[in-house]
Parts: sequence; C-alpha cells; structure tokens
Amino acid sequence: MSQQPMRGTRLGSESFEVDTNKNLSPRKVCLYRCSNDHISEMIFSADAEIPVAWGCKSCALEGALLDESGKQAFETEAPKVPRTHFEMLLERRSREELEELLSERLGELKARRARGQADATNS
Ligand SMILES: [Zn+2]
Repeated sequence: MSQQPMRGTRLGSESFEVDTNKNLSPRKVCLYRCSNDHISEMIFSADAEIPVAWGCKSCALEGALLDESGKQAFETEAPKVPRTHFEMLLERRSREELEELLSERLGELKARRARGQADATNS
C-alpha cells in the first residue's frame, strides 16, 4: 500500500476501493416508483429496514417501494407534492401584508430612481 504512488485527484470525489476479491456484505436492490412513473434503484444492506418511500432520482417527487412483481409494496398516502416558494410565503404572510410590502418597496425604488441613484446600491 505504502509503495503505491499517490494519485492526484479531488478529495472525496471518487473511491479507489476495488470491489474485486472482496466479500461484500449481503445487499438487496430495491425499486421505487414515483407518480411520474420514474423508477429509482436503491441498494440497501440485506439486514437494513427498507424505507417504504424514497426521493425520486429524476424528479422532486417521492417514489413508493415496489415489490418483486413491480407493484407498489405498501399502501401510501398521496405523494407529497413539493410546495413552491410562493406557497410557503403565503403560509407566513397574508396577501394584504404582501401587497403592503410590495407597494412599500416599489415606493422606495421609485424614490431612489427619482434621486438618480442606481438600483443596485443599498445606501
Ligand atoms: Zn420521478
């Protein structure tokens, strides 16, 4: 090991560990399907508790675990649809508050432009 030349590479970017001639711990391949019909393959240790849902590798939805026949293995609730930033914003502030903030900011912007200041400066 110490006789091997050091290889220059980005740290942590890839593993130089080789799988050949090693006894890999038993593992199993699990498939997950999201509502967009993407199939994601995940490999788990054979003795691991398999999660019933896993984040899709192709989109933002959650995939449901499939059994050997390709059917959904468990009944799950409706898939979680990710919320937009705007929806999260609406949970924190009412529309009236947002309108008020918007007109306040627009007023400041107009005043600044009237003074001939560039938009980017914050002073
Ligand atoms: Zn997907």
